[in-house]
Amino acid sequence: MSSTLSCFKAYDIRGRVPGVINAPLARALGRAVVEILGAKSVVIGRDARLSGPELRDALALGLHEAGAQVTDIGMCGTEEIYYAAANQPFGAGVMITGSHNPADENGFKLVRGGAIPISGDSGLFALRDRVAAILAENGSAASAPAAPLHQASFRADYVAWLLQYSGAGQLVPVAGRKPLKIVADAGNGCAGLVLKDLMSSLPFEFVCRQMQPDGNFPDGVPNPLLPERRAATAAAVREAGADMGVAWDGDFDRCFFYDAEGNFIEGYYCIGLLAQELLRRVPGGKVVYDTRVYWNTRDVVLAAGGQPVMGKTGHAFMKERMRAEDAVYGGEMSAHHYFRDFAYCDSGMLPWLLVASLVQRSGKSLAELVAERMAAYPCSGEINRRVQDAPALMKLVRDKYAPTALYEDSLDGVNLEFAQWRFNLRMSNTEPLLRLNVESRADRALLEDKTAEILGLLEEMGGAVPA
Ligand SMILES: [Zn+2]
Repeated sequence: MSSTLSCFKAYDIRGRVPGVINAPLARALGRAVVEILGAKSVVIGRDARLSGPELRDALALGLHEAGAQVTDIGMCGTEEIYYAAANQPFGAGVMITGSHNPADENGFKLVRGGAIPISGDSGLFALRDRVAAILAENGSAASAPAAPLHQASFRADYVAWLLQYSGAGQLVPVAGRKPLKIVADAGNGCAGLVLKDLMSSLPFEFVCRQMQPDGNFPDGVPNPLLPERRAATAAAVREAGADMGVAWDGDFDRCFFYDAEGNFIEGYYCIGLLAQELLRRVPGGKVVYDTRVYWNTRDVVLAAGGQPVMGKTGHAFMKERMRAEDAVYGGEMSAHHYFRDFAYCDSGMLPWLLVASLVQRSGKSLAELVAERMAAYPCSGEINRRVQDAPALMKLVRDKYAPTALYEDSLDGVNLEFAQWRFNLRMSNTEPLLRLNVESRADRALLEDKTAEILGLLEEMGGAVPA
């Protein structure tokens, strides 16, 4: 039983199909969602994975058996479930998705009505325990007739909202200038479903790659961070002579940017662009950033007259902090971007619409927009190390550097600031990994020195190996 239910992570449910994620689990989850969350009406959807339809049928059966009405919005992105749960009177939403993970994996992301997140502390572990009990009671439950599924679509409303909110729908081509040319790489995930409806209303020229959702993933899983996928998108941008490239993961809750030369733009610097853009609309607003890298964000937010607020890494923490602060926007370097006006949820569509609008309006290239910020605050990117005893190593590193630090907090791991550089070292929520992020003030050599120094220390003290 425990091997099955190790699929309940801190924020979602994930694992191999069918060993871990399978129809009996989905059916039990459906029942538990109704019993634990008290949802009478539940909206469900799925990504392109081949295991999706079977899991959908089992999930719907469990929801129905426990007395809930089930509305299926079919193949979609996670944020379409957020949109439905935020704007319609559903008591819960369940997205069946393996996101960027290998093709033989799948999982579930859950929200309450109003698109309120459910994480370990706020109900996910209670759901897990109920699912375990249901599976133990009737591990070989008799098959039952399929549940009645009410099919619905909110896509037209959602697309209209994206166009209106981002302002991209109202953009007009600048006279005498060529329209922005964008490579859109959906990676055979679900992004293409929404892109095809968006494109006709946008004043951009698109070069499309792998727009058709295909759970066989003929060119590999839709994980834009894999080196081979990055290379493919970058090459497409160069080949097309495009102004920028955008790639999405399988359930398109994250998007990734390339400049006109095919250079990957670190998520960190996209936060600065989006913060600027949101503060232009909401002067004096608050922006939440997480503890990994933030000097640039803080700088940009202050310069734009906004209020920077530190949060904790992880979507449930970020959303909670944004709600508490009524923050207009929150950004994580991992390409999760949260918007107050999107029920504090993350979207992989709004960020690129906002960035493309900014590029078009400013007349500057994406590379130009971020170049100054990248030079002002170079960062190491997230570096992972597999270690034996993460807490002990964190303490050793903390004890070495803390005495000379100008600022320290322990909101999320070890966070230390010095005059010209800072770092954050934290443990993964789910794996025996340490994650290191370093940044400096306009000093790439110092950044590289300090990064190497900390990695050397980890290796020396704990036999850390690259992960
Ligand atoms: Zn995703």
